[in-house]
Amino acid sequence: MSHVHDIFDKIKQRDPAQPEFLQAAWEVIETLEPVIERNPHMRELAVLERILEPERMILFRVPWMDDTGQVQVNRGMRVQFNSALGPYKGGLRFHPSVTLSIIKFLGFEQIFKNALTGRPIGGGKGGSDFDPKGKSDGEVMRFCQSFMTELFRHIGANVDVPAGDIGVGGREIGFLYGQYKRLSRQWEGVLTGKGQGWGGSLIRPEATGYGLVYFVREMLKARGEAIDGRTTVISGSGNVAQYAAEKILDYGGTVVTMSDSSGFIHDPEGIDRAKLDWIMDLKNVRRGRIREYVKEHPGATFHEGKRPWSVPCEIALPCATQNEIDLEDAETLVNNGCFAVAEGANMPSTPRAIEVYEAGRIAYGPGKAANAGGVATSALEMTQNAQFDRWERERVDAELDRIMTEIHAQCADAAAEFGHEGDLFVGANIAGFLKVANAMLDQGVV
Ligand code: GLU
Repeated sequence: MSHVHDIFDKIKQRDPAQPEFLQAAWEVIETLEPVIERNPHMRELAVLERILEPERMILFRVPWMDDTGQVQVNRGMRVQFNSALGPYKGGLRFHPSVTLSIIKFLGFEQIFKNALTGRPIGGGKGGSDFDPKGKSDGEVMRFCQSFMTELFRHIGANVDVPAGDIGVGGREIGFLYGQYKRLSRQWEGVLTGKGQGWGGSLIRPEATGYGLVYFVREMLKARGEAIDGRTTVISGSGNVAQYAAEKILDYGGTVVTMSDSSGFIHDPEGIDRAKLDWIMDLKNVRRGRIREYVKEHPGATFHEGKRPWSVPCEIALPCATQNEIDLEDAETLVNNGCFAVAEGANMPSTPRAIEVYEAGRIAYGPGKAANAGGVATSALEMTQNAQFDRWERERVDAELDRIMTEIHAQCADAAAEFGHEGDLFVGANIAGFLKVANAMLDQGVV
């Protein structure tokens, strides 16, 4: 049996009930065989085995009182996966589907994503099975305060720097930060995605979506294509989807769908700037559902319980959640003429879907490369906080663009070097892995 199969068998035996983690782990290690062959010392020093086991996992109870006076109990967690390159860095996800498997898959991907940004950040992830949907601001605040009352002792600006993810936006980061400051008596860059008036970086809210489209621009450029005049299908309607749509419009593309967990809206005329502003207000201010779009925009249709992949497009940007494109969805996309898929969400494509992209030779930007702009800009926020400084919007945006262009180049170069020309999936894994593995080798058996 090959080295990577052998290792995968061991982690399967250790954590048989963690399907998402096993999926994320296999996606990476299956592409690393040639790297290990070229670097046999990595095998002796068990680099793969070590990288697959988190440095530390913290699980804790989060009790809080709801508006009726009933006490609720959720589970909180933080997986501090790898600190070879810097303090643990990665978001917090608040969603009822959160399990240790989900947080481990996200934390594992984060290691390589963060390495690709070229910034000094390790990988971590955390969250809770708490569902902010339908909760009052007071309930969300009490939950966040209880969550941070345990988490604060495990994090710090040079230790572990959480941020947002699904269910954790500006409001939650504010409540979490307030409680951290109160308990630690430190005003420091311990969280990113902070408010613009109190340590947050300009462009951080836009960064994942903008960065995704900068990555798409590079990916298409390498094939002599461009976004201008192309039709884009986007899933999700949160922060990533909104700003991806905005940047697609800036580059002259058309966006025809957006979605949430109840279904998708299809606007064949295109979601223009004014319609996108309406969506931003609906989601960010009124906290409404995407189906409301069709009442306001009669040319559009709502498709209950469906995902948007059957709508013909040239570019697909999954920006909702994991495993949202399966084998059939991928086949439909490719058969309808889609030639580029770039992932704003983490692991939105199933392994079978990825096989379809690869067989169809379409441009495929895996999440750990294509959506790295969010965490890269978080690292720029950390830099500004450490310098007690605040950069102009243009400076942050230019730096984000440079980082995304550089990530694309690194992935393309690594793919070519290992005989997989044009395969950014393999390239992202290898380029990210080599940075982390080399740092681990330098730092001894820890
Ligand atoms: N949750 C985002 C991600 O998946 C951002 C993490 C961060 O900014 O630390 O990369």
